[in-house]
Amino acid sequence: MDLKTPLSQVAGIGPGYIWKLKKLRLETVEDLLYHFPFRYDDFSNIKPATDAKIGEVVTLQGEIWSIKNIFTRSRKVLTQAIFNDGTSPLTLTWFNQSWLTKQIQTGDRLQVSGKLSKYKNKLSIMMPRWEKLANDALIPKATLHTGKLVPVYPETLGLSSKWILTKISQLLPKIAQQIIDPLPDFIKGKMLKLNEAIDKIHFPESFKDAEKSRERLGFDEIFYVSLATAKARREWREKPLVEPLIIDEKKIKKFIAKLPFKLTSAQTKVIKEVLADLGQKTPMNRLIQGEVGSGKTVVTAVIIYLVYLNKLKTLLMAPTEILAFQHFSTISNLLKPFGIKVGIYTGSKKQVKNADVIIGTHALLSEKLITNDVGLIIIDEQQRFGVGQRSFLRSKAKLPHFLTTTATPIPRTVALTLYGDLDLSIIDALPVGRKEIKTHVVPNKKREDAYNFIEKKVKEGDQVYIITPLIEQSETLQSAKAAKVEYERLQTKVFPDLRLGLLHGRLKGKEKDAVMQDFKDKKIDILVSTSVVEVGVDIANATIMLIESSERFGLAQLHQLRGRVGRGDKQSYCLLFSEVEESQIVNRLKNMETIHEGLKLAELDLKIRGSGEIFGIKQSGRFEFKIADFSDIHLIESTKQAANNLLTQDPKLDKYPYLKAKLQELASNVMPD
Ligand code: ADP
Ligand code: MG
Repeated sequence: MDLKTPLSQVAGIGPGYIWKLKKLRLETVEDLLYHFPFRYDDFSNIKPATDAKIGEVVTLQGEIWSIKNIFTRSRKVLTQAIFNDGTSPLTLTWFNQSWLTKQIQTGDRLQVSGKLSKYKNKLSIMMPRWEKLANDALIPKATLHTGKLVPVYPETLGLSSKWILTKISQLLPKIAQQIIDPLPDFIKGKMLKLNEAIDKIHFPESFKDAEKSRERLGFDEIFYVSLATAKARREWREKPLVEPLIIDEKKIKKFIAKLPFKLTSAQTKVIKEVLADLGQKTPMNRLIQGEVGSGKTVVTAVIIYLVYLNKLKTLLMAPTEILAFQHFSTISNLLKPFGIKVGIYTGSKKQVKNADVIIGTHALLSEKLITNDVGLIIIDEQQRFGVGQRSFLRSKAKLPHFLTTTATPIPRTVALTLYGDLDLSIIDALPVGRKEIKTHVVPNKKREDAYNFIEKKVKEGDQVYIITPLIEQSETLQSAKAAKVEYERLQTKVFPDLRLGLLHGRLKGKEKDAVMQDFKDKKIDILVSTSVVEVGVDIANATIMLIESSERFGLAQLHQLRGRVGRGDKQSYCLLFSEVEESQIVNRLKNMETIHEGLKLAELDLKIRGSGEIFGIKQSGRFEFKIADFSDIHLIESTKQAANNLLTQDPKLDKYPYLKAKLQELASNVMPD
């Protein structure tokens, strides 16, 4: 057995578990060891029941007097045991774990941990963690699940933290020797060694231990990405040189003067940064980040025009067919007056003859279109394009300039790591006169009012998005409303007279496009959808976005979603519902009412939620982070510096084969779109 051994080949893990593990994306021994707890329960407080207070988290040692399953009227199973630690009997209760009566028998000695409560006036512990003690042992052997800091992992139905911890405890001793630390000592410094960190993240003796493990493992994640992107950046600089483009400022000025509006200073600044790149001998590789509606399209139009003046072609790739057509129409309108011919190339329509600009989908990546007279490739909504596709483009003999654009608000520190190989330009202001999207966190008791408001607006001719977080009921997010169920409920019970449509991630690309097209053509009044509508489709007539279970989203993601409305002249609205109405949760959401800048909200996410789930990282499809703390700017700076020092000293990493292997693995692990 080694780290890469599939879990299906590990003794003691049956096929039933394999697909559950797959749900958590755990396929190899290494994956399991890198499945980190998201918190620890402190069960180190061992004492007699009579010494403990109600509400105290304790660990007790005692004997099972009886145990049985009780079936409730709602067909749920409660397992109840009477347990006595010699000072006082108490009731242990578990939900939906009927198999426990096979595992625990009357007379067994147990150590149990949990919060002491009163249930029907009797001492009780709900859902205790437990493990058996040897019947004759006065002093328990080393315990795993009770009596100490006990890790809690991301779980899935039938795959509990207890199971995960048990397996890790069996596997780790057998494999620890094989964990090689790729970090050179001078970078590792005082941090834990890799095998220590992996051991202590699962089996910490103290919170301090856990903290040190997180420090090391979090450093690794950021460091490897910094190293990979810094290396890619250096390699880009060594690419074959290009003929610098001639920047005809006069003509550019004229072009800009003829636009239907005045450019914002943010747009002008970014255009300048791009033009400076194009005047160099090194091909450009730049990312423009600008939130929805900041006017990225017109910025790209100016650049396309300059490339055209240099007698070169531009290819512009959009993530979906519908977006390709949308760009085709806006860009044609902007460029046609200057005699520029715009072509289209998608699965269903191919019109490229004599085109100076070709706009299309993935289909554009065909050999025959990337000819030597292509001077610029623009990738719109960059997150939908895998790194693999990008490297295919980069492998071309004659390298064009590259420009990618994204509307995903990612805090600067995160962007600098994630996109460390690209130069970054930010369009940090919206055109003036934009109407703010009126946003309200709506209490559930006002749900009827919200529906009435929607109905009224639809009757006035407006269109509406209703966003649900998941496609189907899932055991982990039980109460989240499934889009399908919600769609049916809304259509039959709430808006029987209106035309509803359904959009979710399980639909094929073409089906999605068809639904969007119907919405665009006003054949649908209300589009019920999961968050797949994030993609930048521009439907000016949509003025209301209602988001269910909004507390499940990060603020930046909510902002991204609400950017789908407010595209036209009409006042737009965003209504946020949440399942949980605790003040802390509502207060977080209330930020949406007052803050209308994506980047600010992204920074807030980082502050409030930590970096566990920063919106934009997953969507980027570039790297995956589990434990890295992006709120630690100092850490990010130091990893960057370490990466650069290392590369200056050894650009190809020939002296560090393990690091090199790590980077290769990182490149191949990139998540599919
Ligand atoms: P993005 O792609 O960044 O989401 P778009 O380029 O689609 O944004 O622009 C959104 C809308 O704003 C378009 O209707 C566009 O014509 C308009 N627009 C762009 N720049 C300006 C500007 N400087 N002043 C006024 N309107 C603008
Ligand atoms: Mg756009």
